[in-house]
Amino acid sequence: MADRKCAAIVVAAGRGERAGQSAEGPKQYRLIGGEAVLTRTLRAFAASGLVDAIVVVIHPDDHARYAACIEGIGSGLIATTGGATRQASVRAGLEALSELRPDVVLIHDAARPFVDTATIGRVMAAAGPGCGALPGVAVADTLKRAQPDGAILATVDRSGLYGAQTPQGFAYDDIRNAHNKAVGEGLLGFTDDAAIAEWAGLTVRLVEGGADNVKLTRQDDIARADRFLKGTEAMIDVRTGNGYDVHQLVPGDHVTLCGIRIDHDNALLGHSDADVGLHALTDALLATCGAGDIGDHFPPSEPRWRGAASHIFVRRAMEIVRDSGGRVCNADVTLILEAPKIAPHRAAMREAIAEMTGLSIERVSVKATTNETIGFVGRREGIAAIATASVVYGDRTS
Ligand code: MG
Repeated sequence: MADRKCAAIVVAAGRGERAGQSAEGPKQYRLIGGEAVLTRTLRAFAASGLVDAIVVVIHPDDHARYAACIEGIGSGLIATTGGATRQASVRAGLEALSELRPDVVLIHDAARPFVDTATIGRVMAAAGPGCGALPGVAVADTLKRAQPDGAILATVDRSGLYGAQTPQGFAYDDIRNAHNKAVGEGLLGFTDDAAIAEWAGLTVRLVEGGADNVKLTRQDDIARADRFLKGTEAMIDVRTGNGYDVHQLVPGDHVTLCGIRIDHDNALLGHSDADVGLHALTDALLATCGAGDIGDHFPPSEPRWRGAASHIFVRRAMEIVRDSGGRVCNADVTLILEAPKIAPHRAAMREAIAEMTGLSIERVSVKATTNETIGFVGRREGIAAIATASVVYGDRTS
């Protein structure tokens, strides 16, 4: 079995009238998840590693569209021109393989882009001389026979009924002979190859089909496939920003850190109330939407910020994030200082940040570390802070 030569024929010559008109052309050239349906179908076969060649039967008007959608698929593709009916197109595909003469051929609808390697493998394994194979799924819905006006005539017993999918697999010589015989007898209206094989007296077996291996027929099917792919392949736009700040310690009687006033024998010097924690957090938030830094929005040269409470800056950064379509997930601030001790104030700091950002308390973290008495922090010349914020974008409201 393993050394059998196997080829696929992908039938892509139809005009797809039921899918309506589109600038992208017939349905097999429509884009789903940013790629042509046919591109995805061909890749499914190429990536399976199970076929030695792929014949693509195209419409004579579609050469340019075809060329555009096979970029990056790889070698082993043979394009040939189809006929007026599906049956004629398959026959053209079979003729295109006359030189390669594979042992087994798999005939597949271009409009089934979600075929998987397992399904292809099951069909291949079951197909051989005298015996064709096709993937089928048991009919799940109750079946009704109805009049054109919608009046139900009967409920049809669905036991033993299956929906036929593709690829349909056959010994190459068997299916080629069956097609030639049908044409010889003037029978030109077969809608799938299994029907031709059955008519020619071959055994055709069902193998397990794939629930996702649907045929995209109508405009709705294509739109649904597009939504499905965009939903599963879309990037979740999570962005992380960081901020860093330092202020100098000078003689004084208190410091303000993460919005909390703490009595101390020093004070922080600089912009506003010099709250390094909230300044670092402001920068982290602004960084998630490329909105510059705290100095751009609140220049230290402006007298109105002198002594101002720094929650103003965090609140403004939150507005900028929200206006850019962002939703903040968490905020994390680390204070780097020798004194005062932060632990007694940590809960109040987290609550203050939760209030000004609208985050729940478990999404706010405040930590502190000393600098092990080394460097400017260790010598108590200043206090530093770093902050990180994560924001999910995509809910643009303005
Ligand atoms: Mg600062």
